[in-house]
Order: sequence, then structure tokens, then C-alpha cells
Amino acid sequence: MIEVKHLSFAYAGQGEKAPFLTLEDVSLTVPKGTVCAIIGPSGCGKSTLLKAIAGLLPVHGLKGSLTIDGAAVDPKKKCIGFMPQSYGLLPWRTAEENIRLGCKIRHKNIEEASFKALCEKLGLLDLLKRYPGELSGGQQQRVSLARMFLLKPDVLLMDEPFSALDAITREEMQEVFLHLWQQSRVTTMLVTHYVEEALYLGGKILLMQPNPGRIAEFLDNPLAGDDAKRDTPAFTAMERELRRKIQAMRGGNGHA
Ligand code: ADP
Ligand code: MG
Repeated sequence: MIEVKHLSFAYAGQGEKAPFLTLEDVSLTVPKGTVCAIIGPSGCGKSTLLKAIAGLLPVHGLKGSLTIDGAAVDPKKKCIGFMPQSYGLLPWRTAEENIRLGCKIRHKNIEEASFKALCEKLGLLDLLKRYPGELSGGQQQRVSLARMFLLKPDVLLMDEPFSALDAITREEMQEVFLHLWQQSRVTTMLVTHYVEEALYLGGKILLMQPNPGRIAEFLDNPLAGDDAKRDTPAFTAMERELRRKIQAMRGGNGHA
């Protein structure tokens, strides 16, 4: 379970500039075994919120509390899988080395059977000796997912994991992700700028608004995880409604 209470964060100002309030009074609970999708206009603090939970922000700008399973966030105690927007692969390491890297850094033993099963499921067995530069975007994404799921983190945080992919590959990867996720049900927070992706993947949907970044709505989404619900009127209606809200935020303040 991820609990965020009255979280505010300001990036330090440079020189004369005042600190920049980026998150204001954010409180939410993501129950264990849930995927929470975060959406909102560009610049509303989605990435900043994710980094805060990952323990990647300077503490002097932070106010409020962040806990995972009841304990203050400490990357040394809890294994946090953080997947940055750019996949976080090292270009000078092969796909296989990149997949193993997450466990290696945290001194976690790798079960070779899991490694093999995961690579097989992700269609990576023939690509293991290649370098990231020799892989397509979708393949790099698979390598990054393999790394995350091999690590078996306590929580998984993903920043726009599928944004760089074309529409068809993106839908494929959403399904691959769901399939893997359903086996571990790791508590996940996932940033996306596709409303449709949020509805398909997120059992909870966090809608954020900008200037400063705060919660607009935190919704339960009964339509998540079911491919058959993707083309239903209920899905389309909710998609339209959320998109309308995001557009209204952009128009409302002229900043985002
Ligand atoms: P989102 O992911 O929703 O697009 P971000 O969390 O990246 O938004 O950014 C939120 C706000 O914080 C933006 O206005 C952005 O310009 C600002 N910001 C992001 N990173 C930094 C930084 N390192 N220093 C100062 N301001 C930043
Ligand atoms: Mg972002």
C-alpha cells in the first residue's frame, strides 16, 4: 500500500528565483495490489509525484508524509521499481545485462528459471545478446519490463512507459504489461498522457491539475483490465469525460 499524506514539494529556485511550488497538499492511498494511473495536463506534476514516492527528490523541498506498507519511504528497505520515461537502459550493456542489472544493483539473487520464463514470455530470448541501440522501441520496452518484473519490487512506479511507442505497439505492450502484472499484482503507479491507457490499466485513476500540481479527482475505475470493455459505450463515455476535464484545465489557466 502506498500512502501519501499532505505532500507538498517545491523545486529550489535558481539564483534570484523563488522556490517553485510543484505539488500542493497531495493526499491519496493506493491499496495493495492496485494499479493507479496518473493523468493530467503536461506540467501538472505527475513525474514529480512519482519521483517523490520513489525517494528521488531532495528532502528539503518536501513536506508531508510518504509511506509504503506503513513505513516511511526508504529505498534501502523497500524495493522500489522505478521505470523512467526513457526506459533507463544502459546503451553499452546487452539486453541480458540490462535485464539482470536491477537485481544486481540491489544484490538480489536471480532465479534462472524465472529469468528464462520472463524472457520467453516477452519474446526476448533471441535478442539477449543485442545492445539497446540494436532494438526497436517496443523491444527496448520489453527489456525494461523484464528488468522490472525480474526484480519483483514491492512497488512499481512507471513514468509514461508506453508513450514513445506507435499506437499498435503501445496497445500490445499494455496487454503484455497487464498479463505480467496479473501474476504478481504488484502495487503500481503509472503515469500516462493517454486517457484510454489510464482507463484500460488503472483500477484507480488519479486526475491531477496544474499550478500548483494537486489532485483534481481520485476515481475508482471498474473498467480496468478487461479488453472486452475497451469498446463499450461506458468506456468511451468515461474517456470523453476525462479528456474534457483535462482540456478545461488547460484552457482555464493558460499555462499548461
Ligand atoms: P508532468 O510530469 O506532469 O508533465 P513534471 O512533474 O515534470 O510534470 O513538472 C511539474 C512542474 O515542475 C513543471 O512546471 C516543471 O517545469 C517543473 N519542474 C520539473 N522538474 C523541475 C526541476 N528539476 N527544476 C525546476 N522545476 C522543475
Ligand atoms: Mg512527466
